[in-house]
Amino acid sequence: MARDQYGREIRYLRVSLTDACNLRCVYCMPEHMTFRPGSALLQDDELLTLIGLFAELGFEKIRFTGGEPTLRRNLVELVRAVAAMAGIRTVGLTTNGVLLDFLARPLREAGLSSVNVSLDTLDAARFRQITRWGNLRDVLAGLEAAERAGLRIKLNAVPVRGWNDGEDVVALARLTLEKPWQVRFIEMMPVGQIAGFQESHVVSETEVRARIEAALGKMTVENDGQLDGEARVYRLPGARGTIGFISPVSQPFCAGCNRVRLTADGMLRLCLLRETEVDLRKPLRAGWSRERLRALIAEAIRRKPWGHGLAEHDFATNRVMSEIGG
Ligand code: SAM
Ligand code: SF4
Repeated sequence: MARDQYGREIRYLRVSLTDACNLRCVYCMPEHMTFRPGSALLQDDELLTLIGLFAELGFEKIRFTGGEPTLRRNLVELVRAVAAMAGIRTVGLTTNGVLLDFLARPLREAGLSSVNVSLDTLDAARFRQITRWGNLRDVLAGLEAAERAGLRIKLNAVPVRGWNDGEDVVALARLTLEKPWQVRFIEMMPVGQIAGFQESHVVSETEVRARIEAALGKMTVENDGQLDGEARVYRLPGARGTIGFISPVSQPFCAGCNRVRLTADGMLRLCLLRETEVDLRKPLRAGWSRERLRALIAEAIRRKPWGHGLAEHDFATNRVMSEIGG
């Protein structure tokens, strides 16, 4: 089992498959982005070698993200290979859902356990505004396909002040009355070149909860208030699904952090909101042995930073969110 210097057991790896995306969400990236050339990204065999080493170090949970992971050519094959690795219990996917209509079934058949779909509003015009390029109906079709395929579904919404922090959060929360999904509201984090916009438009958990409860009734807390991953979970009266709040800004959860990230260009990112990274691609391409690579990863994890510095206005600016994977 990989442990850091603070005794936290680290067993969850988020893997960014590409920094490219077919949307341009305002809270994630600037409109004009230059993406990395394919040669800079980890190739399929390199990815599988590295993920295999993490599995040997006791990692149990893998989540593919991006950029938009469904743009990666061999996604289904990658899922199949990782789901079959010894020690791996779950393989998840975080996606904008645009291509899920075509991919949900093959992904499920390949061994995908669950899908987290980013959806910030149910209003088509506002959806276009927030994503700059997207069509809401593509995502809704993707969600239907995911349901048909039997995938566990969570929705991720990032409320942005003045954009989707009003009726939109209520409409998303209302979905849980009928759907057995977890709808999660994520506080917008300042990271990369657009940290100024993010910091000035963040909406706190307290505000979102108050708006939902005013419209739909008082929520009860689930799991005795224990975090489910990074989310605190509630339920509306009579609801089939639940509502989660991921609040790194107002209620940091660093003490329970169990994850590290692999960027699409092969950097081991030890904390989402810290710039500290260890290059795994270079030693891999230089032909290091599995033992040496595994020791490099274990030592990097040992030095995982305690937590982020948002309270001190210490922001990580070397990458935007889509380059890290959220
Ligand atoms: N393209 C995929 C998607 O949108 O789900 C995967 C990558 S995206 C970077 C992963 C998650 O990060 C999404 O749920 C997105 O809403 C979230 N995210 C992006 N920028 C964020 C920010 N500044 N603060 C909080 N969450 C953010
Ligand atoms: Fe793309 Fe996801 Fe970022 Fe939106 S949040 S721009 S879909 S990577």
